[in-house]
Amino acid sequence: MIKGIIFDFGFTLFQFDNPSVERYYESFKKGLLKSVEYLKELDVWNDQISEDDFVKKFAMKREQCWRESRKTKKEFPTSKLYQHVLESLWEMKAINSINHLNDKAYFKLQEIYHSFEMEEWKPLPNTKETLEKLSKYEKLKLAVLSNHPSHSMVENSLKKYQLFKYFNAVVTSAEFGKRKPDPEIFFYTLKKMGLTENSECLVCGDEYADVVGGDRAGMQTILCERRYKFPFEREFDVPELIRIDNISEILEHLD
Ligand SMILES: [Mg+2]
Repeated sequence: MIKGIIFDFGFTLFQFDNPSVERYYESFKKGLLKSVEYLKELDVWNDQISEDDFVKKFAMKREQCWRESRKTKKEFPTSKLYQHVLESLWEMKAINSINHLNDKAYFKLQEIYHSFEMEEWKPLPNTKETLEKLSKYEKLKLAVLSNHPSHSMVENSLKKYQLFKYFNAVVTSAEFGKRKPDPEIFFYTLKKMGLTENSECLVCGDEYADVVGGDRAGMQTILCERRYKFPFEREFDVPELIRIDNISEILEHLD
């Protein structure tokens, strides 16, 4: 008897129109350049560094964090990334002092950075209808679990399309500190849903981190196959993996 379903966010419940790595990076670049305006308002930016160099410096740090998180599963929230980059620029005297920047300022930088990305994410055609049907199941709890460096990006996207109300828990790696497939983040989500039995929970996602992580956490797994393939996609072999093409097919696997 299934008592809970943990959904991944990107390419499971939501999609990016015409996805490509380039479009993804483009949205980050727009956000990063927009955040320079805010750094000017904060009197941090002083034109010692060009916007191009700032973009390069930020991209290098982001790559470094991604490489590290692939090994350690540790998440680097975007606010922390800004903090690291700005600290090293301040050390080089390429910007003014950052001593007056508080958590609120770093949070706002993070929001600006992800604002263009947020415009791109839209629910998949069957998401709302499927969640509505699932909400009618008695005693079934639903959660979103996303590997994302901004918790508010995921939460606000759900709110923007009136989907937040369907979930008992919304968990991100930014909030928890570790990324899928680390089993700990699945246990944390289960607890937040108010459930205790991992084997009574189903994990539905579009990639390695979801199904391998769910399997490691002792949960049942469903791969929601995405048409677009990312470069460097990881192969996996999960026993008893169910494959579906569309989120609405999950209903067939509940009884
Ligand atoms: Mg995904």
